[in-house]
Amino acid sequence: MFNVETIRKDFPILSRKVNGKPLVYFDNAATSQTPQQVIDVIVDYYSNYNANIHRGVHSLSQEATDKYEQARHKIQNHFNAKFAHEIIFTSGTTHGINLVANGFSSILKDGDEVIVSALEHHSNIVPWQMLCERTGAILKVIPMNQEGELVISEYDKLLSNKTKLVFVNHISNALGTINPIENIITKAHNVGAAVLIDGAQASPHIKADVQKLDVDFYVVSAHKMCGPTGVGILYGKEEWLNKLPPYQGGGEMIAEVTFEKTTYATLPHKFEAGTPNICGGIAFGAALDYMNAIGFENIAKYEHELLEYGTQKLSEIEGLKIYGTAKHKTSVISFNLEGIHPYDVGTILDKMGIAVRTGHHCAQPIMDFYKIPGTVRASFAFYNTKQEIDALVEGVKKAKLMLS
Ligand SMILES: *Cc1c(COP(=O)(O)O)cnc(C)c1O
Repeated sequence: MFNVETIRKDFPILSRKVNGKPLVYFDNAATSQTPQQVIDVIVDYYSNYNANIHRGVHSLSQEATDKYEQARHKIQNHFNAKFAHEIIFTSGTTHGINLVANGFSSILKDGDEVIVSALEHHSNIVPWQMLCERTGAILKVIPMNQEGELVISEYDKLLSNKTKLVFVNHISNALGTINPIENIITKAHNVGAAVLIDGAQASPHIKADVQKLDVDFYVVSAHKMCGPTGVGILYGKEEWLNKLPPYQGGGEMIAEVTFEKTTYATLPHKFEAGTPNICGGIAFGAALDYMNAIGFENIAKYEHELLEYGTQKLSEIEGLKIYGTAKHKTSVISFNLEGIHPYDVGTILDKMGIAVRTGHHCAQPIMDFYKIPGTVRASFAFYNTKQEIDALVEGVKKAKLMLS
């Protein structure tokens, strides 16, 4: 049974005060909070078996290596990858995307085409622009509509046998739109293009099955799903990961090094140069255990209730406009009060202990589309409550009175 009050007890930070008021944490799309079960794993690592992995013969190193590789298996199972070596540990989504973009430098040729969407986070735009500059490939953009949905009929027109790669997010961090990625992947494959899905915003809400999706690359960050910062994974199909060259050189990623020639290690080590975030990887595994014990279906159902409640209550405020009204969306509400800068609303809410994000949310093209400088974004997680949404609504009303 899903009981939010029991769940909230797992998160120590949720009982603190901010500016003298109980914390209302609505910035989950930027980073999620960490349950005690994950904090305990981090403390246990540094208290009991901190050691470098894959190298030492001593017991601590063995223990740390076992735990780290167990975490890789947990992540493999969670995303239903065929092989554990298709899971590459990274420092997060941004790292995963840069790794793939760098790899495609040696594959793309002048005049090849790659496709992005209008709904992307900067980290799924800039690495590809850099790739296009290096290779002469051409970047095409799937447009969006007023509701914040991708216009798939336009995507159809962009696809051709020149298309080599398509990269879109599963869920938009700025608007919450759930993109029709099954359809996008199938159509890309029909013209022989590979697909990378940025799953950073989807992973806290939806359990992606990479084999069922038949996706070539899927990237996530642990810190968006109850894990620590500085760790994430790149899932890649074995054949693609074998085809791509290494991203960084160093220790751990080699088979043999001489000054004449170096040969590379097999997967996954080929892409894991240097000492990784060992504790972070193990804690990521613990975060998946935690979320799976609650159940992603329970999480999605409850968050949908919060989204409907919040949308209704906020819509009742005169002069408030919600951006992103897609039919399929997750618990993100981006909004503005008429004539008031989002930053000012965010500052007043903070005084009341309410944490929201203000600004362009690393998605300036979306803000340009709506011709606004930014929005106030409230993003809900499974540990938030309707009472907290009531506090937000009161806060927004107060901000409106003070600022207009
Ligand atoms: C958070 C986020 C990113 C960036 O993740 P990092 O952890 O900062 O690398 C990329 N894309 C989306 C959709 C995100 O929500």
